[in-house]
Amino acid sequence: MQPRDLSDHVAYEAGRGIEEVARELGRDPSEFIKLASNENPHGPSPAAADAIREAAGSVSSYPKSTHTDLTDAVADRWAVDPAQVWLANGGDGAIDYLSRAILEPGEDVLVPSPGFAYYGMSARFHHGGVREYVLDREADFAQTPETVLSAYDGERIVYLTSPHNPSGSTIELAAVERIADETDEDTLVVVDEAYGEFADVDSAVALLEGRDGFDARDDVAVLRTFSKAYGLAGVRLGYAIVPAEWADAYARVNTPFAASEIACRAGLAAIDDDEHVERTVATARSSRAYMREHLDARVWPSEGNFVLAAVGDATTVAEELQQRGVIVRDCSSFGLPGCIRITCGTEAETERAVEAVNAVLAGRS
Ligand code: PMP
Repeated sequence: MQPRDLSDHVAYEAGRGIEEVARELGRDPSEFIKLASNENPHGPSPAAADAIREAAGSVSSYPKSTHTDLTDAVADRWAVDPAQVWLANGGDGAIDYLSRAILEPGEDVLVPSPGFAYYGMSARFHHGGVREYVLDREADFAQTPETVLSAYDGERIVYLTSPHNPSGSTIELAAVERIADETDEDTLVVVDEAYGEFADVDSAVALLEGRDGFDARDDVAVLRTFSKAYGLAGVRLGYAIVPAEWADAYARVNTPFAASEIACRAGLAAIDDDEHVERTVATARSSRAYMREHLDARVWPSEGNFVLAAVGDATTVAEELQQRGVIVRDCSSFGLPGCIRITCGTEAETERAVEAVNAVLAGRS
């Protein structure tokens, strides 16, 4: 007995952790900093950490089946109906729910290249296909309606990422609106705002709800996560905000108890901790400005908590950086050779990363 033909499926390449890299290099973990997975350098919100400790006593029970408290808090935060909030096991889980809800076998999704790998992976798991639109590095990975629409060929889901991973470019709401207008009625435009807190652009929730001069619509969904600005990547909590018209679809597609009791309690505590998010965003903004100014490499403008830098042989540069104790992401796995992505760290981490990258590049020139 064998699994089905998985030859079209590519394994997700998660960033390697400090322990793993240190073990491989035979070094002490304390010698490393990890700026490879866009994690929060300030850790979780302290309130969320307390909530996780408090949740320990009740984990022998299943979570509340509808996670009402957190759903209500998220709905409040966005001023939408609780039925529009689809809590999931991370943003990745929310992507899966959208695949389940939308795709029939053989239907396609349209994704950015370079781009976040899980959109395509999820479509394939659900027996769908994947087509790409290309974001041009020479145009700063600009996300224009033309770029997307010229590649569009009736796909059922079009993914937009704002800020875009790995470049940090964003898309204006007027451009999202045009894409939604010019794609078929049964195409869903998903705006992935996993890094939304770090950006200056408005959330596409305004499009769903018909705010700020836009007409309300039923063909846009928004993805958000607690992994980045809230510092809760390890608990796995994210959500989709879907059109109000989709009334009972969530109950039919969600995995029972996928958002755990611990995750939901942590999320509930974190969502009110504005101070932690503000501090995190301020750190990211000054870190990315510092990297753009001081790295001796082409660095694209970024509105995320990371920057993309052109460094030539990125695989070797990333390895040499590791030798110097700085773990970054080689972007080959995003379909983007020649670049590394560096997560915004604390001031000290950022300075150390810049110094290491500049030293490696100087040694190679
Ligand atoms: N979207 C984008 C663009 C991402 O970069 C990530 C995480 N790397 C996610 C979604 C999903 O994150 P999570 O599952 O941790 O919420």
